[in-house]
Amino acid sequence: MVIQTKLTKLVGIKHPIVQGGMQWVGTAELASAVSNAGGLGILTALTQPTPEHLRNEIRRCRAMTKKPFGVNLTILPTITPPPYGEYSDVIIQEGIKVVETAGNNPGEYIKKFRAAGIFVIHKCTTIRHALSAQRLGVDMLSIDGFECAGHPGEDDVTGLILLPLAAKALNIPFIASGGFGDGTGLAAALALGAEGINMGTRFLCTQESPIHNNIKEHMVNATERDTTLIFRTLHNSARVFRNKIAQEVVSIERKPGGAQFSDVAPLVSGQRGKLVYENGDPDHGIWSAGQIVGLIKDIPTCEVLVKRIVQEAENTIRGRLEGMIVTEAKL
Ligand code: NAD
Repeated sequence: MVIQTKLTKLVGIKHPIVQGGMQWVGTAELASAVSNAGGLGILTALTQPTPEHLRNEIRRCRAMTKKPFGVNLTILPTITPPPYGEYSDVIIQEGIKVVETAGNNPGEYIKKFRAAGIFVIHKCTTIRHALSAQRLGVDMLSIDGFECAGHPGEDDVTGLILLPLAAKALNIPFIASGGFGDGTGLAAALALGAEGINMGTRFLCTQESPIHNNIKEHMVNATERDTTLIFRTLHNSARVFRNKIAQEVVSIERKPGGAQFSDVAPLVSGQRGKLVYENGDPDHGIWSAGQIVGLIKDIPTCEVLVKRIVQEAENTIRGRLEGMIVTEAKL
């Protein structure tokens, strides 16, 4: 049995589960494992140091899976601005069929990808941004609730509110992102009008995720209270794992007079965060994690995880939900 939705049909995948873009994590190892498991794996463009490295990574991924996979391009403030145009050229030249865009002012790239016939899933955290992406012609939206890892925006609205609002406001299909990691979540997302789920943190904690095992174990032992928000005062809020560095950043931001980005830049740089994943010290730098970390209790393969989520969603819908509907005569 499979759960068929507009996502599975339009993208040509078996299960309605997307692995969202993750800086330093969305490599060919993880993306191909998710795609081979029947979901949609996504390579993260900016994880590759140059556009030519991205070209190589796309080719490597293609050698590791025959199934569809996509590429994420995120446009947010960076310490060293990447050549987004060149990354997007490589994505088009390499014949990528699905792109996940995210971040601020993605219009130029959305138009470019659409003109190249690419299926664009735009991830955003507000209904007004979803509507403007719809006007720009994206094919699908990924509605990201406040529970999410990474950048939740500045409005602090959770998925439970955003998803039904999206169902009413949008003419195009959408998937649910932020706070998803099991089959009850998938069933809930479908009930709220989504065509599937996007998961980052849950896939971060799988066998194929290319990070140090200590970090995966650390996630298994974490609770839902182990994330925090940095960059609130800089209007670039980011939900990250609550570690020593994150707490230091928050306390610098709270100082009278506030903080400039330069006050925290050495603490938060992505290059430093990358070493967390390489060396396995969870306190070395900033690393993204969503509130779903509280529900993560194991380190499965992507295949086991995806199968389990779909089975659990089916059990929830057929067993738990359907079983609750009874005719009044039986009461
Ligand atoms: P980086 O080292 O350039 O910056 C580290 C963090 O500081 C990032 O969160 C960035 O948004 C923020 N930042 C940088 N300059 C800033 C400024 N002037 N004001 C406020 N905040 C600022 O980033 P990186 O770790 O190399 O990542 C590269 C890009 O990818 C960033 O834009 C980052 O936000 C983004 N990102 C993407 C994903 C994804 O899933 N694709 C996940 C995490 C981060």
